Amino acid sequence: MRVGLYPGSFDPVTLGHVDIVRRAAHLVDRLVIAIGTHHSKGPFFTPEERVVLAQQALEPIATELNLGLGVVTYDGLTVDAAREAGAVVVFRGLRDAGDFDYEMQMAGMNAALSPDIETVFLAASPGTRHIAASLVRQIAAMGGDVSKFVPDSVNTALKRKLAP
Ligand code: ADP
Repeated sequence: MRVGLYPGSFDPVTLGHVDIVRRAAHLVDRLVIAIGTHHSKGPFFTPEERVVLAQQALEPIATELNLGLGVVTYDGLTVDAAREAGAVVVFRGLRDAGDFDYEMQMAGMNAALSPDIETVFLAASPGTRHIAASLVRQIAAMGGDVSKFVPDSVNTALKRKLAP
């Protein structure tokens, strides 16, 4: 059984993340969503909330695609989270040149730390490439409609969190 790790902040999970999960499902039997909690000073959703939102959004897709799904939090090295999950592949999405520069550096460092774990980049799909969790948070906080960018359950959770 081939296991992949998809690490990120997922604050919150967006349709861009969903797209990456759908496509990673063709490449692995089990995918572990690893929600990083270490560098996120002042996250919008707590790690526990992010886990629940990721589960709600991704479990139906995993069932549909016959993908084993895990959702965990981690606060150490991504390569350690990958090893703990039994993953041989780390998936990252690439949206633009900014992602590329950062991701190449991270992939290089991770390969040096753990040569047995391979980083696989999935190019963002045209329909979701513009979506960034940080912009979703900003737009929602200003009262904008983010329903085109996030799963329904996340849209509801954003409204609840931001309600006066
Ligand atoms: P991080 O803080 O690690 O960048 P994110 O939750 O923002 O965490 O993103 C996690 C991963 O998902 C990253 O590899 C990022 O490039 C990718 N990603 C985020 N949004 C999209 C999108 N719209 N399309 C494709 N990949 C995306």
